[in-house]
Amino acid sequence: MNIPQKTLVDGLITQVDHLIPCNDPFEVISPGAIAIHHGLIADVGPAQELEKRYEGKEMWPLPGHIVLPGLVNTHVHAAMSLFRGLADDLPLDRWLHERIFPAESRHVAPEFVFLGTLLSCAEMLLGGTTCFCDGYFFEEAAAQAAALCGIRAVLGQGVLDFPTPDVPDPSAVADRVYTFLEEFPRRSSRLHPSLFCHAPYTCRPETLQWAKKLCMERDMLFQIHVSETRWEEEEIRSRYGMSPVRHLERLGVLDDKTLCVHAVWVDENDIRVLAEKRARVSHNVESNLKLASGIAPIPAMLEAGITVGLGTDGCASNNDLDLFSEMSLTARLHKAATGNPTVCAARPVLLMATRMGAEAIGLGAVTGSLEKGKRADLVAVDISQAHGTPLYDPVSHLVYAARSSDVRHVWVDGIPVVRDGLLCTIDLPAVLNEARAAGKAVAQGLLPR
Ligand SMILES: [Zn+2]
Repeated sequence: MNIPQKTLVDGLITQVDHLIPCNDPFEVISPGAIAIHHGLIADVGPAQELEKRYEGKEMWPLPGHIVLPGLVNTHVHAAMSLFRGLADDLPLDRWLHERIFPAESRHVAPEFVFLGTLLSCAEMLLGGTTCFCDGYFFEEAAAQAAALCGIRAVLGQGVLDFPTPDVPDPSAVADRVYTFLEEFPRRSSRLHPSLFCHAPYTCRPETLQWAKKLCMERDMLFQIHVSETRWEEEEIRSRYGMSPVRHLERLGVLDDKTLCVHAVWVDENDIRVLAEKRARVSHNVESNLKLASGIAPIPAMLEAGITVGLGTDGCASNNDLDLFSEMSLTARLHKAATGNPTVCAARPVLLMATRMGAEAIGLGAVTGSLEKGKRADLVAVDISQAHGTPLYDPVSHLVYAARSSDVRHVWVDGIPVVRDGLLCTIDLPAVLNEARAAGKAVAQGLLPR
C-alpha cells in the first residue's frame, strides 16, 4: 500500500479550536489548520485534512485558541503615542491649539517619530494588529521603526499648507514630499509610501490635486481626514459652497485609492458620492467619541457598499491602539445610535478590522484574510480565560468578549513577531525606558513657566 507523501512546508499551525479566515463566503473551521511556506499562506482547512497533507519544519499545535487574520489599523499617527494622555477632556480646538500643536512644534523631530513609532508598533503587534496605515511628519523615520518591528505598514507623509515640524515654510512642502519618497526604505516589501493630506480646511485645492496626482503616478494611497467635525463641515460649506465630500469630488481626488478618515458629518448625498467613487472610509469610533466629534453613519455606508475599515487615530485622542476595543465599541455604539440591535453585527465588524480594512488601504490582495497566496499575517487568541468561557460563537467572542491582552502569538509574513505574549523583534523594555524619558521631557516642556 502506498503511503501518500506529505508536503514539507515551513510551518504548520494546527489543532486550532476555531480558524476564522475572514474569507468570502465567511467560514469558521473548527478545528482548523494553516500551512505557511515562504511567508505565504500555502493552505487553510480542517486540521485533520491538513495534518495528512503537510509536514511543518516548525509545528505549532494551538488547542485553546482562535486563529484569525492579523488586524488592520486603517488610521494611526503612530509617533503620537509619546503624547498619550497629554491632553484629555478638552474641546477639539483647545486640544489642538493649546496642547497638541505646541507640543508637536517643540518636540517632533526624526528621533521622536522613530521612538514613538517603535512604541506604537510594539503596542499594535502585542494586541494583534499586523498592519497599519499611518500619517505624520518625518515619515521616513516611522518607516525605519516599522521595518525594525517587522510590521506591515502604509506610511503617509503629512502634507499641509501650514507650518509643520518638518516643513516650517509650507511653500517647501513638495520638496519635503520628494525627499520622503527618496529616503523611503525600498528593500522591505512590507512598507508602502503614501501621502496624507491633513484635511480639506488645512490644504488648499491646488495642494490636494497636486498630492493626488503624485499618488496616482506612483500608485500610492491618498489619505485625508474628511468631515470629522461639524465645524469643518460648516467651514468648507462657507468657503466652497458645498460639503467636504462634494468638494473633494469636484477636485477629482476621490477614487478607490483614496482613504477618507472619519466621515462623521456626511449626509445621504455624500454617502452616494463616496459609494459611486468607490472611495474608502476609515472609522475611528473611540477618537470621534473622545473628541465629541459625533457618530459616523457606518450602517448606512455599509448598506451603500462602501469599504469601511477601523482605525484608532493617534494615541492623543484615544488613548491606545487597541483594535479589539474598537471592534467592541463599533458593534455596540451603532446599535444604540440607530435603535437597531441588528446593525454592525459581529461578522461585518470583524471584517472591518481585517479584510475590509486591508482593502481600504490598498492591500486587499496582500493581507486581511487567510487565503491561499496571501501573506501569512495572522494572530492566535487564547480562549481559555474566564471571560472567554463558555464559547458558543467564536466570531461574537472576538468582537464582544475578547481583549487584546488575550493575543498570544502573532506572525507577519509567516515570521513569528510575538510568541507567548512577548515581542520577538525589538527590545521592548529599552523602548519603554526611552519612551518614559521622552514623556518626561514633553511634560517639562508643558509646565507653566
Ligand atoms: Zn487622525
